[in-house]
Amino acid sequence: MDIKTFGIVGAGQMGNGIAQVAAMSGLEVIMSDIAAELVERGLETIKKNLQRGVEKGKMTVETMDGVLGRITASVDIKDMASADFVVEAATEHEPIKFQIFEDLDRICASHVILATNTSSIPIGRVAACTKRPDKIIGMHFMNPVPVMKLVEVIRGLATSDDTFKTTLDLAVRFGKTPAEANDYPGFIANRILMPMINEAVYCLYQDVGSREDIDTVMKLGANHPMGPLALADLIGLDTCLAIMETLFDGFKDSKYRPCPLLRKYVEAGWLGRKTGRGFYEYP
Ligand code: NAD
Repeated sequence: MDIKTFGIVGAGQMGNGIAQVAAMSGLEVIMSDIAAELVERGLETIKKNLQRGVEKGKMTVETMDGVLGRITASVDIKDMASADFVVEAATEHEPIKFQIFEDLDRICASHVILATNTSSIPIGRVAACTKRPDKIIGMHFMNPVPVMKLVEVIRGLATSDDTFKTTLDLAVRFGKTPAEANDYPGFIANRILMPMINEAVYCLYQDVGSREDIDTVMKLGANHPMGPLALADLIGLDTCLAIMETLFDGFKDSKYRPCPLLRKYVEAGWLGRKTGRGFYEYP
């Protein structure tokens, strides 16, 4: 399938990163969110990222202008009608995603692949909201999208080989390395990563160590580029909690129970970097 126009629903930290790599690969991009200021904020982030690239000599001003010129902002999901491939990167909350997929299924031409960047919601459940389950797939980018090489491509039970191949090719076109996963809660990346983060929160909760010591142990002891608590702040504590809930609900195994301290922070609105406060402060 010839993909010329790429749609991205959600202009938050993942959505704007995905829009950036799509536009950098030469595609026309439509980026939507629910309010003008949210799409604007997404565009601003992309601009800042690209400007940093120009300052470092990695791209010319002309290239930057070209990339920005290929991104159209939207607050109306109906604009996705002109997209040849759509990725949904909205808040990790089932009712929100299910509504988006019902809408996209109605709005987009029947041959268009609809992918979700969900961290953990089963692809089969998303597919069941549409009349095109063979064209529903997980396309799970890592944060920050312009930097991280991996895209986890998740096949649902009904995902067709064509859909899978087109999605793999698109990931490669974006300069990424795809890895295939099957449709079980958390897939591969978050099945492994999130229980580790949750365990780090338990260490803090039970006063096994300070936030700095917990992060230092994993940075220097396991050679991770950042500690699990700092990583949780980067991912967003609401997203971390949502993923743990999905693992817990999906497997009914107590090893996936979210740490009460994680829940407490989320209830207090301490969501990490995006709200200026999580396990660390970001003034
Ligand atoms: P975020 O909070 O930064 O952004 C989510 C955006 O979705 C917000 O701007 C919100 O306004 C928008 N949104 C909500 N409802 C919408 C709707 N109906 N239509 C359009 N936009 C809507 O969250 P994020 O970190 O960008 O996460 C987005 C998705 O990516 C989630 O599914 C998350 O699990 C997944 N993900 C996150 C990470 C991470 O590290 N944060 C990594 C991989 C995947």
